[in-house]
Amino acid sequence: MSLIKGETGYWETVIGLEVHAQVVSQAKLFSGAPTAFGAEPNTQVSLVDAAMPGMLPVINRYCVEQAVRTGLGLKARINLHSVFDRKNYFYADLPAGYQISQYKQPVVGEGAIVLDMKDGENREVGIERLHLEQDAGKSLHDQHPTQSYIDLNRAGVALMEIVSKPDMRNADEAAAYLTKLRSILRYLGTCDGNMEEGSMRCDVNVSVRRPGGELGTRCEIKNVNSIRFVRQAIEYEARRQIGIIEDGGTIDQETRLFDAVRGETRSMRSKEEAHDYRYFPDPDLLPLEFDQAYVDDLAATLPELPDDKKARFVRDYGISVYDAGVMVAERETAEFFEAVAKGRDPKLAVNWVMGDFFAMLNR
Ligand code: ADP
Ligand code: MG
Repeated sequence: MSLIKGETGYWETVIGLEVHAQVVSQAKLFSGAPTAFGAEPNTQVSLVDAAMPGMLPVINRYCVEQAVRTGLGLKARINLHSVFDRKNYFYADLPAGYQISQYKQPVVGEGAIVLDMKDGENREVGIERLHLEQDAGKSLHDQHPTQSYIDLNRAGVALMEIVSKPDMRNADEAAAYLTKLRSILRYLGTCDGNMEEGSMRCDVNVSVRRPGGELGTRCEIKNVNSIRFVRQAIEYEARRQIGIIEDGGTIDQETRLFDAVRGETRSMRSKEEAHDYRYFPDPDLLPLEFDQAYVDDLAATLPELPDDKKARFVRDYGISVYDAGVMVAERETAEFFEAVAKGRDPKLAVNWVMGDFFAMLNR
């Protein structure tokens, strides 16, 4: 147990993560515009992405497959019927005035991720849902002294929002969750997991409670873009909340920002409620309907995923659970290890890959 000692006794941190993972796809979710990173602003924008009047979205079949494959990789329930909704809000970089997302009927339901902790223990974190949605554009406030610029290249790019259950209890578990999720996404080839380029972003929900007590009120820290910052945000936020409660205050449910320079979280706005968005089914899009055979065919395309590979390495090569975990963390490493271990002593191969070879790569 990792409890935090306050002035009045011990506290438990409760964490749930919402990860936005950009789908690996050449084209956007509802248009044929390209998605390559780093292009000149506003060069990858179709009339649909710019929300010109009368434009109609057309679903990208490949993005749907990617979401289903991800759901299968998370051992999750695939919903044969799901619905796209409009999530309405005003923002300068959201020209339509709404985001096409999924709300009550997402494409993927409950699943689970096994965490590999440093002590060799495993812990399971529940997945609540995975849904498909569009990314927004980007506002640039640092290009001109008095004006903001808008870049719509990202507008309409397909995202998977992967929502965990509030099953994590400390920063180590949150870090292990993100590491494992990223590994699974990369194995599947459904998201490149690159947090620096923003193709994987994380909203961190944190609350505190007395050990084993009722869930406390959560604060949501938006768009944290590295695992190190997720750790810092959790640690800062838990102590901030404990301080307020121990001083006799209460936690307001709110949306906060992480300030990486100061290592603090700051209030951004009070938490919006679902009804503020006036969700309703997008009348331009039919519900997504799959038959089981479609899902089964996609299941047959899944590669061997890290948990299975790890178990096989322990079984077939007789290496330790820890060593197997390191060898399978990246798909390329695992394949390389198997090539090296062929006809050689597996333990020697592990030592060489982990020692000399990793050192060489780092250099
Ligand atoms: P919203 O869009 O309003 O943030 P979601 O259902 O998308 O709602 O996400 C809620 C997230 O908050 C989930 O990851 C969930 O696990 C987490 N969560 C819910 N209640 C708590 C709580 N009391 N403490 C910490 N995290 C929580
Ligand atoms: Mg949220």
